[in-house]
Amino acid sequence: MTKRIVIIGGGATAVSALAHVAGAPGIERITLVAPGPIGFGTAFGTTDPTLLCNTSVDVTSLLAEGRSDFLGYLAAHGHPVHRDDFVPRYLVGQYCRTRYGQYRDRALARGTKVTHIRERAVAIHRLDDDTYRVELADGATVTGTDVVFCAGAEEPRLPAEVSAHRGDPRLHESPYPASRLRRLPHDARVLVLGAKLSAVDAALVLSREGHRHTVLTSPSATLPAVRTRLRRSAEPAFGPGDWAALDPDSASFDHSLTRMLLRAVRRGHPSARALRARAGGPAATRQLNEEARLAEEGRIPWQDIVAEVIDALNEQIPRWRPGAAAGALTRHHTLMSRYISAIPLRNAKLLVAHATAGRLRVAPRYPREIRRTGTGWRVHWPDGSAENFDHVVVAAGYRARRLTCATGRLRIGHDGDGPQPELLPDLRVRLPDRARPERVWVLGSAAGARHPIVNYLRAAAQHAAVVGAQIARPRTGEVTPYAERTTL
Ligand SMILES: Cc1cc2nc3c(=O)[nH]c(=O)nc-3n(C[C@H](O)[C@H](O)[C@H](O)COP(=O)(O)OP(=O)(O)OC[C@H]3O[C@@H](n4cnc5c(N)ncnc54)[C@H](O)[C@@H]3O)c2cc1C
Repeated sequence: MTKRIVIIGGGATAVSALAHVAGAPGIERITLVAPGPIGFGTAFGTTDPTLLCNTSVDVTSLLAEGRSDFLGYLAAHGHPVHRDDFVPRYLVGQYCRTRYGQYRDRALARGTKVTHIRERAVAIHRLDDDTYRVELADGATVTGTDVVFCAGAEEPRLPAEVSAHRGDPRLHESPYPASRLRRLPHDARVLVLGAKLSAVDAALVLSREGHRHTVLTSPSATLPAVRTRLRRSAEPAFGPGDWAALDPDSASFDHSLTRMLLRAVRRGHPSARALRARAGGPAATRQLNEEARLAEEGRIPWQDIVAEVIDALNEQIPRWRPGAAAGALTRHHTLMSRYISAIPLRNAKLLVAHATAGRLRVAPRYPREIRRTGTGWRVHWPDGSAENFDHVVVAAGYRARRLTCATGRLRIGHDGDGPQPELLPDLRVRLPDRARPERVWVLGSAAGARHPIVNYLRAAAQHAAVVGAQIARPRTGEVTPYAERTTL
């Protein structure tokens, strides 16, 4: 049976999926379904050259293994970069777009037609002959033998405090496009809800012209840590049995995990001191300042284990008892996200400069109330003080698009919209009433139901490799679980 593959999505994950199936034998056609041009998603679709990746070129690749394909692309296009560099995110978009054209040509050369339907998919129906019909928003359909779901996360998460004001011209539901923020008056007072990557982008864009007054606020009141690279190491930081020896159900788990991580850091940097995370307002900018200074001196000993820790967490956590995994992730969420989503030194230095000049502040607490007034917003802080703002910018993350079970079909919606199908180790979905898994695979953000760290191109490329290997194999073949295929 020849295969007809439908890829839902058009961002970096979809291009990585195409990379892993283009040129495989026995594929009649590949149809990408995505409303916009292929290659440019939420993070990499920006055109602003000042917005940087927070991952080095080494791990920002459509292919997870071997020499960074992104590094090869940049070198071939005349960019003098090192694999440790943090490059502007628009370059990743251009890279994905270029590779899309090349993979399409490669597929064509093997007799596979590649088409793009510019529409949104709304559901996947399973047909009696074990094929699938993908329903589109305009009522049209496309059928396939295999469906690869890569719809990412592009809908901003609106905090409850402002969700009633959707559509308000003084509420910016996302910091993108950055040009919209840049057009705000120079004397505008802006409250940014969030303190992670997109909030950092907002702060950098708003403060750049030098006049605005910007306040970042988040429940954790913590800024990301600072790093000078995120790359794979030649020497593994962990021993073969280190992760397997951890017992997530044991009372001493947190202690054992911390010791194991510190041991790994010290193996590479014998004189390294323990990490200390502090939180809260002026302390957050002081800590940023201190971390920027350490980074400049090359004293960020933890950064070289991060890529390996992410790979290990994605591999190990699905093996843990679900309750123990959820508990560990909740307890360590703030710390994990601080170090895993650390920012480049260049961004940290800019933030420090803006804070020192009084253009930028990190609030020590999250607002008790945010009220819309006739002219803007009035924010009540937990210490009893109040402050007026002209605009609120939401930078509180994005809602992943997921598959949810409905009668006779899988609906494409957001988390919280209904029961999700089981996501198996090979990234196939299984419906509640069916023993056999579907030939429907979930990659990227939506695979967060199985793997803890998915908002990272390397993780999506690992998913694509696992799925590509299954699709390329004859239909009767065995599947290879994720965990067995992601070891470096
Ligand atoms: C501010 C920010 C900075 C980031 N920086 C980095 C970084 O430096 N390095 C890194 O590795 N990762 C980074 N990430 C994470 C990054 O988004 C992921 O690594 C990855 O690029 C996500 O790609 P994606 O294709 O899965 O999703 P997206 O980029 O969200 O693309 C989703 C695609 O699916 C389409 N789509 C959505 N719904 C449907 C539907 N129903 N039907 C059809 N198509 C649909 C969209 O139109 C789009 O084409 C960052 C994220 C953010 C928010």
